[in-house]
Amino acid sequence: MSPSDARISRRVSAIAESATLKVDARAKALRAEGRAVISFGAGEPDFPTPQYIVDAAALACADPANHRYTQAGGLPELRRAIAEKTRRDSGFEVNASQVLVTNGGKQAVYEAFATLLDPGDEVILPAPYWTTYPESIRLAGGLPVEILADESQNYLVTVEQLEAARTARTKVLMFCSPSNPTGSVYPRELVVAIGEWAAQHGLWVICDEIYEHLTYDGVQAVSMPVAVPAIADRCIIVNGVAKTYAMTGWRVGWLIGPEDVVQAATNLQSHSTSNVANVSQRAALAAVSGSLDAVEAMGVAFNRRRKLMTLMLNSIDGVHCPEPKGAFYVYPSVRGLLGKSHGGRVIDSSADLADFILDHADVAVVPGEAFGSPGYLRLSYALGDEDLIEGVSRIQKLFVTAAYELG
Ligand code: PMP
Repeated sequence: MSPSDARISRRVSAIAESATLKVDARAKALRAEGRAVISFGAGEPDFPTPQYIVDAAALACADPANHRYTQAGGLPELRRAIAEKTRRDSGFEVNASQVLVTNGGKQAVYEAFATLLDPGDEVILPAPYWTTYPESIRLAGGLPVEILADESQNYLVTVEQLEAARTARTKVLMFCSPSNPTGSVYPRELVVAIGEWAAQHGLWVICDEIYEHLTYDGVQAVSMPVAVPAIADRCIIVNGVAKTYAMTGWRVGWLIGPEDVVQAATNLQSHSTSNVANVSQRAALAAVSGSLDAVEAMGVAFNRRRKLMTLMLNSIDGVHCPEPKGAFYVYPSVRGLLGKSHGGRVIDSSADLADFILDHADVAVVPGEAFGSPGYLRLSYALGDEDLIEGVSRIQKLFVTAAYELG
């Protein structure tokens, strides 16, 4: 066989641009043109990283030991601290040898799929899903099998839906709770039922726990291998410091799994990115060994914004916004706004609607198309209160005006 004439490989050209990063980039570009754009696009806390973490990093910078390559799998003391933190926070008992430190949770997701999947293996992917999952699955040669859980079921899949999607090729279930983009949190009974179903059929589960500490109204995130110990030997946990400690830019995440899987994923990482920057690892060490006071303080602000945002969005005719119990996103259905024209422009999809809102109200939101569920918008409430109120007021006003013009 001769090599293809295509400049870009089929594998990579099939990857879609990250829709969330695209929205954010567009908002930034418009701002650079002088427009007062308010962005609900970014999935990152608006707070600075707590000072004790920054101080640990500054100290680490000055130590020549951190100027060198270190173990590909992560600094031993950080791997130990992550194992300890996991025991403390979710109750999952793991050893340091079961931890791989990665460049953010995103690399952990990529490596988890690359390590588990062979070409043609199927992954059950509940939608709405985080936009990176299907691309990571495909890059690993796998096939995402989407099942949709809409707002009528609080965006939570049922065992019946999962069972209907299972085939002889199913190897993995992707499970994210609290969820990006919906903010839904799976209750214990459902985590148990899904974990038992996976165990019964010998499936792997990748559990993304990156929003574990961002829950509201007394709801708690439940770690599947703790609720269903039978799944522990076929379970990979993905986590990181980005959301809990406002550390998105530091790029430290990790995966936790059975030792053989972690060793294989470490081999993969040793040939791609090697160790995560040592200064960032030292900062992460301070973060995971410290208290959870900072995330509690952020949680108070997020909770206030969550309620305000839900209330304001629900006051718009045609928008239905369930109150999320976790993360920092709301995910309203906007189907009631679709199929209408505004100034000669027909808005028939949530992608069109997001463009319309950006063009006419200078507000950036991410359309549901990015998360495998058209008809919705994702708005992050990880932005200052004033901007949040101004941004949602602009959307409210836009649709009141649009309703008049539509007649
Ligand atoms: N998982 C989920 C569900 C996320 O929303 C994100 C960030 N948007 C990540 C993983 C990865 O975060 P990071 O790579 O910044 O650690």
